Amino acid sequence: MKKEDILAHLGDDYGKFMGAVIPPIFQSTLFVQPTDSNDVTTDEYIYSRISNPTVAVVEEKMAALEHGEQALCFATGMAAISAGIMSCLGEKAHVICIETAYGPTRAFLGDYLKKFGVMTTFLTGNSLEELEAAILPDTCLIYLESPSSYVYRLQDLREIATIAQKHQIYTMIDNTYATPLQQNPIDFGIDLVAHTASKYLGGHSDVMGGVLVGSKELLTPMIEGERALFGASMDPHQAWLVLRGMRTLQLRIEKHQENALKVAQFLENHAIVEQVFYPGLASHPDHELAKKQMSGFNGLVSLIVKGSQQQQMVFLNALQNFQYGVSWGGFESLIANATVGKELPGVPQGLFRLHVGLENLETLLSDLDQALKKAAIVTD
Ligand SMILES: *Cc1c(COP(=O)(O)O)cnc(C)c1O
Repeated sequence: MKKEDILAHLGDDYGKFMGAVIPPIFQSTLFVQPTDSNDVTTDEYIYSRISNPTVAVVEEKMAALEHGEQALCFATGMAAISAGIMSCLGEKAHVICIETAYGPTRAFLGDYLKKFGVMTTFLTGNSLEELEAAILPDTCLIYLESPSSYVYRLQDLREIATIAQKHQIYTMIDNTYATPLQQNPIDFGIDLVAHTASKYLGGHSDVMGGVLVGSKELLTPMIEGERALFGASMDPHQAWLVLRGMRTLQLRIEKHQENALKVAQFLENHAIVEQVFYPGLASHPDHELAKKQMSGFNGLVSLIVKGSQQQQMVFLNALQNFQYGVSWGGFESLIANATVGKELPGVPQGLFRLHVGLENLETLLSDLDQALKKAAIVTD
């Protein structure tokens, strides 16, 4: 099945859902069980912390889109990521993680799990020698995020999966940047793929969610294991909103990508911009690798504005069409300040992240232009 058709129709069951074109929200905590052979109920569903028919439609679509055997939905992206990581850990555990991975993921590995004796080595992920040298006898997981947060660094998925298999180490990736449309890590041998649905999958900044995709061997035990025990399952209403978002994912991603590439090119040629980070630009250090393992990009563009910190803040405050806020992946344009008041490994000071939304491109470009010009005339 083609990806557009999976997004539009996989999981539709007009017979089961009384002709409803949209799978209904099964807003029910429990499902009564058959007690004799004449009973009309089935024993497919028991309790919504374990499984739910509306949630199951999202899972069916995600498994198909990511070329995995199975998918499991969670309450948030972090619920999927933390459960996925936990499922790979043994009694003595060492993890290797990309230093520019999503902040809460790094905090979970580097701070929280440390309390339980889990050690994590953070590295750039830019060289296979660096990675091989970090492998210890207790290494049980290599955690990737490609493209990574803020600077969009890539890791060579096929090479890393090969090394990991040689050492019998699990590999897991946060594939949120790419969505299942632009990259399918399981095709390269990665074991577990995590997504937050709170970004492009939902797409309207009104729903949170998370998904894990992988083999049945890895995921089936998690239904009664990490998902049921930690209890961060997806709610049927959430699933219904994620499904609503997924129906237009392809169209939205194409538009975000188109607008973002134009914004990135405009910024790269702007006199008041120091540096632009967009893996779709030839100037990005991983542009060639991206051509090998990805089929496209998204709406995230980072930049460093020339001048003092004061000038950079003038730029931020002068923007009218990019609201200052965290998150991304909705219809709206946003700007986030990565490094204000803190040092992030692998992220240069003064970096701003833009999420280029679905607004008119000229509106966005002229807004950026006027804000950059205001920054340029400030003198300390
Ligand atoms: C937002 C984000 C997450 C976390 O998702 P939540 O749904 O907020 O828990 C994980 N990874 C990446 C790359 C993200 O941008």
